[in-house]
Amino acid sequence: MKVVKFGGSSVANAEQVSKIIDIVTADADRRIVVVSAPGKRSSGDTKVTDLLIKLADTVLAGGDYEEQLLAVVARYAEIQRDLQLSEAVVQTIEADLRGRIETRGANNLQFMDTMKAAGEDNSAKVIAEAFTKKGFPAKYINPGEAGMLLSDEFGNAEVLPESYGKLASLKDETDIVVFPGFFGCTKAGEVATFPRGGSDITGAILAAAVKADVYENFTDVDSVYAMDPRIVPGAPAIELMTYREMRELAYAGFGVFHDEAIVPAVRANIPICIKNTNRPSAPGTLIAPKRSYAERVVVGISSAAGFCAIYIDKYMMNREVGFGRRVLQILEDEDISFEHTPSGIDNLSVILQSAELPAHKEQRVVERLHTELKPDAVTVEHGLALLMVVGEGMHYTVGMAARATTALFEAGVNIEMINQGASEISIMFGVKEADRQKAVQALGKAYFG
Ligand code: ASP
Repeated sequence: MKVVKFGGSSVANAEQVSKIIDIVTADADRRIVVVSAPGKRSSGDTKVTDLLIKLADTVLAGGDYEEQLLAVVARYAEIQRDLQLSEAVVQTIEADLRGRIETRGANNLQFMDTMKAAGEDNSAKVIAEAFTKKGFPAKYINPGEAGMLLSDEFGNAEVLPESYGKLASLKDETDIVVFPGFFGCTKAGEVATFPRGGSDITGAILAAAVKADVYENFTDVDSVYAMDPRIVPGAPAIELMTYREMRELAYAGFGVFHDEAIVPAVRANIPICIKNTNRPSAPGTLIAPKRSYAERVVVGISSAAGFCAIYIDKYMMNREVGFGRRVLQILEDEDISFEHTPSGIDNLSVILQSAELPAHKEQRVVERLHTELKPDAVTVEHGLALLMVVGEGMHYTVGMAARATTALFEAGVNIEMINQGASEISIMFGVKEADRQKAVQALGKAYFG
């Protein structure tokens, strides 16, 4: 059994919905379909979820919301018309939206979630109807009724563990299941949503609950690429990578897929396949628990700007018990999250996201480091980018670091920091932000030719 999730661009209009029907019905294993709310039809367009948020804001402010409500209805009406579905579908959607507004309670956050959820909920109803009209019996499933139980952190809810057992029975449905992404309900029966982009989470939960063989995540790119194609045009596609590789690449800037969103599938060891709704024949990218690293030692190179480093020097630091703890305590006191701590004999550096160290905090941290740790020097360097060379085979292959450092040397890029630390599957380099593009291109050439 496959759980198949389609994102906003895959449900944006009738043409896209028709592609979904073709994709799902081409493979009898595709039994559970998770859908987002209609997304942008073109670059200047607005996602239905954003229309709904504006509508909810107007309602909360006591304004005239009629036009905004009709704009949401119009998105579904366009799909209904183009797919020649019954007009009753649109009437039901309009009544549903009005009902959500009229029955709103005192909790504004909860109301906002009820409104946001309308996007996916109505999308699933229309798409189930579209399947049935084409002769493929399909059933809309209401997440609350099916047992998608969430915490009551509105707008940022988490799945409750008992959901998995309840949702497992979806595998016994005989019709194609069309399940709205992004929301569920609390134990008190109120609608709650995951964070934005949360339909990926719904798909991962259902895949884990029904113990799917694979979780297919359809989007609008053919695959994940080994490097950002905007930096390295023609970067090779990644056909297979492991969960760990995905996690490391996503950490430094791989944006195609939200790694945290698929945690339930990862925990249940279910392979995830990223595919393109517009070109389903492309193999896509498979993310699996294991791969044979011999075929491709390095899988990808990611990079992200926006980091800074605090360098602390003190002669004989290695003999001083508690030094590292006290440095990190100062950061903790300031509520600063740190990323890495590469260290030497007499020095320790702490790499942070620049946003964690605004000027006022930087001043306090540096002062405290001086007074409490009596170092020889403390310097802060801003404007760093991190590059990650990632691959399960790195640990076993001789000369991987040499290849990178040679490439960076030849490109005239100064390496500010190298960290191979605990992770056996990546090497991290810190370079000046201005060198980032050049560095990724040089590394790309060294590893992928
Ligand atoms: N429609 C929601 C959003 O725009 C959830 C999703 O598409 O995954 O955030």
